[in-house]
Amino acid sequence: MVITRKIEFSASHLCRNPRLSEEENQKLFGPAANAHGHGHNYVVEVSLEGDPDPVTGMVLDLKELKQILTHEVVEPYDHRFLNYEVPPFDRVIPTAENIARDIWQRLEPRLNDARKKLHAVRVYETPDLFVDYFGTQLVGDQLSGDRPCSA
Ligand SMILES: [Zn+2]
Repeated sequence: MVITRKIEFSASHLCRNPRLSEEENQKLFGPAANAHGHGHNYVVEVSLEGDPDPVTGMVLDLKELKQILTHEVVEPYDHRFLNYEVPPFDRVIPTAENIARDIWQRLEPRLNDARKKLHAVRVYETPDLFVDYFGTQLVGDQLSGDRPCSA
């Protein structure tokens, strides 16, 4: 059984790779590379897989899940400039992909136990662009191979 809770935060970011030239960054990321950044109203859906507790009938009390999401994601991300204020985005390009992975890493230790585990993190950067992350990674280098974020 999978349960999902949705949260929202607003944040600024810019997308550029310091290993690339200004021209290459502009070509790859377009306006998203502009130095002063820009903002998004991010929507995040966090899904947990598990069996309902025989006593409560719930996989996880949704109030408790909301508290964890607020503490681990909304408070550190909301109204921040991700590149300058929220590690690891001083080193990692804050694309929707990398945001989804960071949220996964923040939540997994708080949510996984014998009865339930984190199933998916979905990050909407805009209403028509979202990323799903299931905790697997094909390559280790976080600064190369990232797709550009939308402007
Ligand atoms: Zn953007």
